[in-house]
Amino acid sequence: MSIHPALAGSLFVVAAPSGAGKSTLVNALLAQEPGIKLSISTTTRAPRPGEHHGREYFFTTPEDFVARADAGEFLEWAEVHGNYYGTSRLLVEKEMKTGIDILLEIDWQGARQVRKLFPDAAGIFILPPSIAALEERLYKRGQDQPHVITKRLLAAGGEIAHAPEFEYAIINEEFHVALSEMSAIVRATRARFPQQAARNASLFAQFGIHASQS
Ligand code: GDP
Ligand code: ADP
Ligand code: 5GP
Repeated sequence: MSIHPALAGSLFVVAAPSGAGKSTLVNALLAQEPGIKLSISTTTRAPRPGEHHGREYFFTTPEDFVARADAGEFLEWAEVHGNYYGTSRLLVEKEMKTGIDILLEIDWQGARQVRKLFPDAAGIFILPPSIAALEERLYKRGQDQPHVITKRLLAAGGEIAHAPEFEYAIINEEFHVALSEMSAIVRATRARFPQQAARNASLFAQFGIHASQS
């Protein structure tokens, strides 16, 4: 039996309407799961208070973003809430070749592009327990202007309409329950046969299972 070596790393795509708790869940997941990295997107949105260039996002101008998109630097990119967001092709491909799992926090348009490139990517959609909870979380987060919050709430239905395109759905009501479901998905995806065989090549070779050189 042959296994393709490029499959060593798994790709996770996480989407949600703004305020569902996506970043909070992802950060908690990364703090407890070794071997998985978040892809830091490039965006034309202004940094929020406390956000740092290169930590939450690489912040740039629309002109620079468009030039880089034209140069093919993004694996996927989309316009979301009036700003451009894109995933670095170089970073994702480099890490996945070394067996590191990569998590993308992107919108449904980006998820669609990634699914075409990586059909095995695990798609996770995070839902809030209600629209009222979503609104309350956006206000409590206290990082966006009221008109920006209104724009994001209006966009929530559009994002949620694409939830059925994802493999997994998590309802972020009780935070610890949602987090344990995210962990379970990550661990189960890592235990997929091709990924296990690629990570444990010498052990699998003892059983006559070899990674293909193609
Ligand atoms: P959040 O909704 O509070 O996480 O606000 P952000 O401003 O961080 O993200 C806005 C939207 O852009 C969300 O729907 C993200 O999923 C999406 N987004 C962030 N990074 C990317 C990216 O690299 N590519 C795409 N396509 N969408 C992104
Ligand atoms: P997103 O990245 O999806 O826009 P955030 O991770 O910024 O959302 O979460 C939005 C707000 O909701 C934050 O203030 C966060 O602390 C809060 N939050 C996240 N999960 C829960 C939860 N299960 N219960 C209550 N509040 C939550
Ligand atoms: P925020 O501006 O609140 O950080 O993010 C708003 C939305 O943009 C979120 O839904 C987030 O998932 C999405 N987003 C962030 N980065 C990317 C990206 O690189 N690509 C795409 N397609 N969407 C992104």
